[in-house]
Amino acid sequence: MSTEHVEHAEDGLEAGNGLEATEDTRNTLRNEILRAAKAMYSKGMVQGTQGNVSARLPDGNICITPSSISYEEMALGDLVTIAPDGEVLDGGRSPSSEKLLHIECYKRFPDIASVVHSHPVYASMFALAGKPIPAWMDETIVYLGGDIEVSTYGMSGTQAMATNATMVLEGRSVALLANHGMVSVGKSPSHALELAILAERTAHIVMGATLLGSPQPLPRDSVDSLKEVYQLMRSMK
Ligand SMILES: [Zn+2]
Repeated sequence: MSTEHVEHAEDGLEAGNGLEATEDTRNTLRNEILRAAKAMYSKGMVQGTQGNVSARLPDGNICITPSSISYEEMALGDLVTIAPDGEVLDGGRSPSSEKLLHIECYKRFPDIASVVHSHPVYASMFALAGKPIPAWMDETIVYLGGDIEVSTYGMSGTQAMATNATMVLEGRSVALLANHGMVSVGKSPSHALELAILAERTAHIVMGATLLGSPQPLPRDSVDSLKEVYQLMRSMK
């Protein structure tokens, strides 16, 4: 097929059926959620059935991983669609018990399309100690927005936990949940997971640097410039 024919075919696809395109996007997102959830488990970011992954669908509803099913067994049919108010719209399973955290993130940050909640070892140590992970590396600011702050404690699954988490997520892509774990937000499930993995790696490096002694903070003017880069990247689709 010539280039011209390909272009015409694509035009037809876009103009011909918007509903079909929306359905394609929905299916792509569902596949991405499942892939990210399994990767989160295989990379050791969670143990057992801990953690959860979601994405905002084109119609504003949310597709989220179910509660109490192993990541190894999890299939596309196990994912659950919920409305922004939490009502279950489809899926034969119960949505994650931490759905309020996801709902609050989408409500508070209209620019994000995915939420990943994980329990990684090193970042969780900071969450338990109630200590933020300092942005001593330039990449921490460029990709995550700055120091990774710790929320005030709220019991898992409650609105208090969700509200407290989003307060320290303001201007950031990752936050620590006191006495619990981590939440990250991104443009897609794989992006949000990538940011969670970077935060975990940062926690590990910061802990090692602290043990070695005298870690050096970044110069103030560099911090400001790096934050501008973060804001620019965050504003891009
Ligand atoms: Zn959790």
